[in-house]
Amino acid sequence: MTTGFIERSFYSLGTLNNIKIYNCNDESVLDISQNRVNELDDLLSAFKPNSDISKLNSNSGKGYVEIHKDTFMLLSRSIEFSKMSSGAFDISIRPLVELWGIGKKNNFIPSTDEISKVRKLVNYKNIMLDSKNKMAALLKEGQAIDLGGIAKGFAADEVKRILLERNIESAIINLGGNIVTIGNKPDGNRWKIGIQNPLSVRGQNVGVLPITNKAIVTSGSNERFFIKDGVRYHHIIDPRTGIPSNSSILSVTVVSDCSMDADALTTSLFILGPEALFSSSSAFGDLQFDAVFITEELELIATDGIRQQLTK
Ligand code: ADP
Ligand code: MG
Repeated sequence: MTTGFIERSFYSLGTLNNIKIYNCNDESVLDISQNRVNELDDLLSAFKPNSDISKLNSNSGKGYVEIHKDTFMLLSRSIEFSKMSSGAFDISIRPLVELWGIGKKNNFIPSTDEISKVRKLVNYKNIMLDSKNKMAALLKEGQAIDLGGIAKGFAADEVKRILLERNIESAIINLGGNIVTIGNKPDGNRWKIGIQNPLSVRGQNVGVLPITNKAIVTSGSNERFFIKDGVRYHHIIDPRTGIPSNSSILSVTVVSDCSMDADALTTSLFILGPEALFSSSSAFGDLQFDAVFITEELELIATDGIRQQLTK
């Protein structure tokens, strides 16, 4: 058995991506994977003028537009997550994302008036889907969609599908922090994925998780944020208040078979906090996944499935 690998890093979906495949020297597998990610970026980007999402956004308040079945599926799944999260996860968040401009505008805090005006545009119930004709509409003019909280997850599932179809047995896919592992490491041991200390520089972990054949996704307030008067302003916005969520959570990591679900879950749970998961009436009870929350005191709160496996 050889332990050679091929690897590719590329920019797409607004982030840096990396795919590493072991015991394989067929670069065409990487080409096909990269093309698929780029194809999804062309469909789902809120910035590319010809994407499905831009078509929908520029047509807000003006009726239905035709969209690709992948876009349709992502919109439907996103709305299911809005329902499960009582509206915390809401892809119609874009007007608020633009208003705050976290990571773009310089430490900008909008006025209460601006926030309450723009917040009225954010409501997943005003996203209309016509499943028969694969069409969608945004009811209110000025409404706009942002798939930043779910698209990378789906793209990572797609790369996994492509690799499995080509009988790849050991690989690691990392689309902007959405990690999907296939099989084990080439030496037969499980992948060891570090959980970043949200208060330290990149690469410093608070714990390590052994992973086989699963997706592992983190949402945290440490990637794009600023601090003003002791408050952390970051890129995950609570649609209920119109401001970056201020639960006592610094990050949440989800381990699941489905990277798309893990992506939407991390964004949802980041806003809702661990209570949403550990209460007996949790709306996420039908989904199979594990989660680790990191609190402001750097305390780790994990589900039973992984608590024992977490090592320092
Ligand atoms: P990242 O994309 O940095 O890995 P997330 O998966 O948590 O992190 O997604 C955050 C992105 O999702 C934001 O940059 C924004 O585009 C979008 N977003 C922000 N708030 C929400 C929300 N309440 N519901 C759905 N998407 C959101
Ligand atoms: Mg997410």
